[in-house]
Amino acid sequence: MTVIDDIDVSVFNHLESDVRSYCRSWPTVFGSAQGSWVRAEDGREFLDFFAGAGALNYGHNNPLLKQALIDYIAQDGITHGLDMSTVAKRDFLETFEDLILRPRGLDYKVQFPGPTGANSVEAALKLARKVTGRESIINFTNAFHGMTLGALSVTGNSMKRAGAGIPLVHATPMPFDNYFDGVTEDFHWFSRVLDDSGSGLNRPAAVIVETVQGEGGVNVARPEWLRALADLCAERDILLIVDDVQMGCGRTGPFFSFEVAGITPDIVTLSKSIGGYGLPMALTLFKRELDVWGPGEHNGTFRGNNPAFVTARVALEQYWSDNAMHQATLAKGERIRESFSNMADSFAGVSTRGRGLVQGLVFDQPDRAAKVCAMAFESGLLAETSGPSDEVVKLLPPLTITDAELAHGLSILAEATAKVCS
Ligand SMILES: *Cc1c(COP(=O)(O)O)cnc(C)c1O
Repeated sequence: MTVIDDIDVSVFNHLESDVRSYCRSWPTVFGSAQGSWVRAEDGREFLDFFAGAGALNYGHNNPLLKQALIDYIAQDGITHGLDMSTVAKRDFLETFEDLILRPRGLDYKVQFPGPTGANSVEAALKLARKVTGRESIINFTNAFHGMTLGALSVTGNSMKRAGAGIPLVHATPMPFDNYFDGVTEDFHWFSRVLDDSGSGLNRPAAVIVETVQGEGGVNVARPEWLRALADLCAERDILLIVDDVQMGCGRTGPFFSFEVAGITPDIVTLSKSIGGYGLPMALTLFKRELDVWGPGEHNGTFRGNNPAFVTARVALEQYWSDNAMHQATLAKGERIRESFSNMADSFAGVSTRGRGLVQGLVFDQPDRAAKVCAMAFESGLLAETSGPSDEVVKLLPPLTITDAELAHGLSILAEATAKVCS
């Protein structure tokens, strides 16, 4: 029997594939969770600054969503529905239109792909290719869009790309905002190769971009960069896909992360927190005129996860009927920012970046980020690293976290950072 501090992990080691990863950073066995807290089998409690990689924006087992889910199950509501019309789906769509799309002037059609972020990205890429009749896609350095072959082809990370085992084609990376530390003019390369018939760049169907690259190291695109990108796409008749799988659903403040730039993408992907309760669900949104799909052309068995439609609707009603969540997220993000700025001022080789409730503490010496996270775990805090060298401590606390919880977690991180940096 393999034991960590009296907890039995032997079945994971002998039966579960070596592909597992998060459990290596957090060597314990979790049993229950509530709000911003996760409890291990041995009774140890952890404040969760990871929130399911952004799938738990409203916290663990949010009581309001839980009650709606229990009621729905108790009355034998539809659980599995393919893409059949159901009451739960109708209620969700009406609420999504009333609270999210209409107030933002977004005239999108809604597609339910399979329930993961990668499913939504695949649908977006396929649709862009079908609409334009072109093959190639422009992606950005350090992008992350998922693990299936299409999504992987537009993802940057070389270790993950190598996992494909076949060539990943029809995607061309361009420098993300600030890739050259502000030295080279934005889009100089991109617009140049688009216009140069000798550049070797095939005319792309679409550009796919994250407004803040979460997995890529909390790289924040400036609103003016996003606007310039949207303009460039519009001028050249290239579709703009914003992958809002992690940064949507209020992570950066507004419901959609691109609202800050005042742009309207042609296609938007959502997953992670759209189901509200951590239940799998994804949406692909696109401008009405792009809806060229034939019936069943992009199919999937689990597109109708109706319990997720219920919790998704209640989450929208609860948190997106007014501006309170948006404002609170910006205020809490500011708290993290202040705390991180203090650390950056106190220690050499530490800097900070982020927007809303996605904030990164960046270490010039990459191994320090993992050390800080390991030390934080020992002190009862879950936080993960990101970035090409795992050099960033990335915070994604639940948006529903209290000020006291936030302060508690930040004090743990400050202490860990002080130890690691001195
Ligand atoms: C997590 C993520 C994905 C992939 O979602 P899965 O549900 O893991 O397939 C795609 N894009 C972004 C930006 C993500 O953060």
